[in-house]
Amino acid sequence: MTSELPGQIRPLERMDDLVALCARRGFIFPSSEIYGGINGFWDYGPLGVELKNNLKAAWWQEVVRERDDVEGIDSSIICHPRTWEASGHVEHFSDPMVDCRACKKRFRADQLADAGPCPSREGTSEHDWTEPRRFNLMLQTRIGASEDAAAVAYLRAETCQPIFNDFRRVREVARQQIPFGIAQIGKAFRNEINPRNFTFRSREFEQAELEFFCRETERDRWFDHWLGERLRFHRELGLGPDHLRTRPHAPEELAHYCKRAMDIEFRFPFGWQEIEGIHDRGDWDLSRHSEFSGKDLGVTDPETKEHYVPVVIETSVGIDRSCLALLCHAYREEALEGGEARTVLRLHPRLAPIKVAVLPLSKKLAEPARRLERELRRRWNAFYDDAGNIGRRYRRQDEVGTPFCVTYDFDSETDGRVTVRERDSMQQERIALDGVAAWLTDRLGPGA
Ligand code: ATP
Repeated sequence: MTSELPGQIRPLERMDDLVALCARRGFIFPSSEIYGGINGFWDYGPLGVELKNNLKAAWWQEVVRERDDVEGIDSSIICHPRTWEASGHVEHFSDPMVDCRACKKRFRADQLADAGPCPSREGTSEHDWTEPRRFNLMLQTRIGASEDAAAVAYLRAETCQPIFNDFRRVREVARQQIPFGIAQIGKAFRNEINPRNFTFRSREFEQAELEFFCRETERDRWFDHWLGERLRFHRELGLGPDHLRTRPHAPEELAHYCKRAMDIEFRFPFGWQEIEGIHDRGDWDLSRHSEFSGKDLGVTDPETKEHYVPVVIETSVGIDRSCLALLCHAYREEALEGGEARTVLRLHPRLAPIKVAVLPLSKKLAEPARRLERELRRRWNAFYDDAGNIGRRYRRQDEVGTPFCVTYDFDSETDGRVTVRERDSMQQERIALDGVAAWLTDRLGPGA
């Protein structure tokens, strides 16, 4: 970046740059790193967990708390195994897989373009593929001490199935009438054939899902409503129009029970990819769980007394994929005056892991600076840094997306003022020490 003109901005072009930053600054790094990592599993460090929690809190606030027609739950990860027979996962939740007879690598048959050349064949770099065969993506486990087949269970492959299991009880306890929704955020597990693109395709990941139950005649209205809401959410968190688009599923892509589906896609450095799906699942799930459990999951219209099975509109977003999209979008390298450069994460303040950093100009100013830090920590995730020159300290905060830095200097001792610096513009302003919290409240907004 050093040879470029001041003010020049370079967006993220190579995922490796983001992967390196995430490891170096403790956002995301390989799980079990000391053992060489484990393919498809990732750990979120001190900053990563804050980012992820902020995203989940924003989703929960808008999808659950701000609505009187949505209830939240937190179900167990392992459900009764019949759940996954009813949902069709045991029979159908599989991807086509091929092996190369030469290099022994295994790939999804529909993603062979990404396989690269075969390193093991002589005279050609073409792979020697086997015929595709179905590979079930459900991760199995065993429950209890018994070794027999009855104890086989599955780690949930999506968070929505337990919502259907709980539909009747939640509706009763919350005294909800159709239309209403049930939402949850939690872990899902898929034994992906090729985990790749950092956290984009993992074997353990988090989903935030809403299942919204409505009358059949209202399905299109609710589909459009939720698509609009979810797009607004992504846009408000900063994903710009040139990086966000919708893609309707073609009829041949739709699951047999699905009437309509729309992907929300983000333009990653590795191409346009789905981050969220909006699906009209019809009455498939409730009907199947009624059939398999023998419990009636239909509802009775309070006025007409008609008994019917509601239709489901689903919104399903990957928390890890969204975090990755937000990080990709926020990342930029900027050329500064004097041949210097900085890396900055322009994260929405609501998502930024650290909201404010307190930087005393000298270690001698620790006492009053620490006092300010303690005050700010009661409201926000604040950070204290007294190591290195002030420019270096600003760079460290820019690189992790901290929207504001407050510098306490020797003048602060006499004039009761501090310097606040904004991340994106790098503008500085001198404000009253006892007004810092109010100044930040105005700028960070209520959700931060
Ligand atoms: P894909 O086609 O990419 O495998 P999908 O269509 O199977 O995804 P859904 O079952 O609709 O995905 O899951 C909803 C959301 O869950 C996705 O939009 C994505 O954000 C997230 N998700 C699905 N699989 C993974 C995975 N292996 N790793 C991380 N996130 C995932």
